[in-house]
Amino acid sequence: MNTIDDLFVTSLKTKGYSVTKPRQIIFDLLDNKEPQSISELVRKSKSQIDRASVYRTLEVFEETEITQRVSNGWKYKVELSDKFQSHHHHLTCRNCGIVIPIEDDKLEDYIENIATGQGFKIVSHQLEIDGYCAKCSTTH
Ligand SMILES: [Zn+2]
Ligand SMILES: [Zn+2]
Repeated sequence: MNTIDDLFVTSLKTKGYSVTKPRQIIFDLLDNKEPQSISELVRKSKSQIDRASVYRTLEVFEETEITQRVSNGWKYKVELSDKFQSHHHHLTCRNCGIVIPIEDDKLEDYIENIATGQGFKIVSHQLEIDGYCAKCSTTH
């Protein structure tokens, strides 16, 4: 087992859950992928698990901090939490829906500095940027 799988099992166990087939399937669908909507996950796992199981699984994943939400307008997508991948933000295209991950140490330092200046200790932060990607911006 590699560390990602270990972390998956441990995250479930500490909250009293075990690895089930639906949980493993959804986890594999999210692993190493860009944020996905619940309907995408339902579609991709349709032949193996029903819709209700996908929802239940995602509830467990949120409780165990295996996934985190990525806001996308008034909807949201889910991705594996920062425990499983390095912390990053996203540029989301309003037209084609492409999600471009951005990792920037200067940005992280800057956010940290803003908070520290207020005597504030950050627990987590989100920064989502939406607009039009290079391909779509020529027509929008
Ligand atoms: Zn686009
Ligand atoms: Zn950040």
